[in-house]
Amino acid sequence: MRKGILLAAAVCLGLFISSPAWAVPSSAVKSKSELNQVRQQKGQVQGKIKQLNEKMKANQAELERLEKESYRIDDEILRTQQEIRQINAKLTRQQAIFKQRVRRLYEQGDFGFMRTLLTADSFQAFLTRFETMRLIVKQDRNLFDSYFKWKQAKTRYESSLVQLKAEQKKKAEEAKAAYDRMLADLKKNRVRLAELEGLEDIKEDEVRRINLSLLHSGRLSFPYEGGPLRWPANSHEITSPYGPRVHPLKGVMRPHMGIDIHGNYNDPVYAAAGGVVVRSGPSLGYGWIIVIYHGKKGGQDLFTWYGHSYENQVLVHEGDEVKRGQRISGIGSNGFSTGPHLHFEVRLGEKAVNPVLYLSH
Ligand SMILES: [Zn+2]
Repeated sequence: MRKGILLAAAVCLGLFISSPAWAVPSSAVKSKSELNQVRQQKGQVQGKIKQLNEKMKANQAELERLEKESYRIDDEILRTQQEIRQINAKLTRQQAIFKQRVRRLYEQGDFGFMRTLLTADSFQAFLTRFETMRLIVKQDRNLFDSYFKWKQAKTRYESSLVQLKAEQKKKAEEAKAAYDRMLADLKKNRVRLAELEGLEDIKEDEVRRINLSLLHSGRLSFPYEGGPLRWPANSHEITSPYGPRVHPLKGVMRPHMGIDIHGNYNDPVYAAAGGVVVRSGPSLGYGWIIVIYHGKKGGQDLFTWYGHSYENQVLVHEGDEVKRGQRISGIGSNGFSTGPHLHFEVRLGEKAVNPVLYLSH
């Protein structure tokens, strides 16, 4: 009896020590968390780069606007200066006319103005002539004054334009400086991204090697992430359902192990759930076959199979960790296939089941 209990205890202990269902070596956990960390940092840096690119685009648009505005102001300044030159010429002419008339009135008064006045044959005529002379002088003076005022206004306008241009120049310089700062920041972030990508490669490789060693020692096991499977292609059209059918090439009744999903050549093929790629290689019937292990679901190992890709379309290796919805390949017509489509299977352990019952639609 005592011996029996001891034996049972030893068996339990033995079971406990020899890998229980989810036993993953601590090195694997560490590598995976490091990989996730690197990916998170990469995401942050990528976010920053995207943000900087957007800001720089807006900044460039502002610079372009300022440049255009500055050309417009330059044109306006030139036009105003031309107008001022024309007014100056008019002023000079008007001034000359005015001076001439005043000179004639006051210097040659006796012979010109006074004579004109005095030879008036009546007092009424005298007054009329006097008034006429006075009006001529006054008109000259008014015209001169209005030209002068016009010139003053134009000069004020010109100086406001010059000031506006100076403000614009300052704004453009500030924008340019901000752009240069963002560019430097962008370069720094790109360098950081390249570093992280290198690190990601190393960590991915580590995780891949650990997954492969777990796979080959029969210890690759983890719980399924949950939820229905993601539809693995863009098209939702099933061209051949799961179940018994006449084989399209062999002409005999054969069970169809999965569903055929319509697609054009190189349309994306997505991982139906997160997991580990346990097979990615050539096969006679399936063309290039990709098998992903998604973990234990209800005590059974859940796999998905993806068939008919060509080797050059495949983006994953055995041992790779994939995320739900990650593109893993492209649709092809490799293997026993009559045209491009995705052959998709869901397997519980070794048994192929109807994928439609496991997929979200
Ligand atoms: Zn098929």
